[in-house]
Amino acid sequence: MWRFLPGCEPPPPKKVKSNEDVSESAKNYEKNKRQRVFQNSWKQGRTWLVCEDNAMFCSVCKEAAAVDATISHKNSFTSGNCQFKLESIKLHEESRNHKSAKAIVAAKNRPCETPVVKFLLTMNSETKEKLSKLFKTCHALAIHN
Ligand SMILES: [Zn+2]
Repeated sequence: MWRFLPGCEPPPPKKVKSNEDVSESAKNYEKNKRQRVFQNSWKQGRTWLVCEDNAMFCSVCKEAAAVDATISHKNSFTSGNCQFKLESIKLHEESRNHKSAKAIVAAKNRPCETPVVKFLLTMNSETKEKLSKLFKTCHALAIHN
C-alpha cells in the first residue's frame, strides 16, 4: 500500500517477540504481580459482604442456602471467593442467585409479608374450605401412593 502513496515511508517493521521475550515478561509479571487483598471500602453499602479465612462470603446467600440448597451450587460466595476483585463482588450483587437469596431471607424474616400469606389472608371461608379439602386429598394420595 505504501508504494501507492507518494512521499510516505512505510513504518519500521514491528519487533516480533521471541519465546524468550514472552517467558521473560511472564516471569516479570509473576514476580511483580499485584497481591489482591480484601478492601474494607468494598463493604460500604454491602452489609452482606464478609471476609473470613482469606476468602469473601455473602451472608445472605449462606443463610438462604440453608433453606434452598440450589443457591449454593452456582455461587462462589457461599463456599468462599478468593479472587478479591471488586468486579466479582459487583457481578455477585447483580446475580439472579443473590437476588433470589435476598427474597428468601426476607420471606424467612417477615413471613407475613409474602405474597402467599397475603393471599391467604384475603381468601374467603368458602375458598379456604376448598383449598383445605384439596390439600387433604393430595396428602391422602401421597400416603396411599
Ligand atoms: Zn449473595
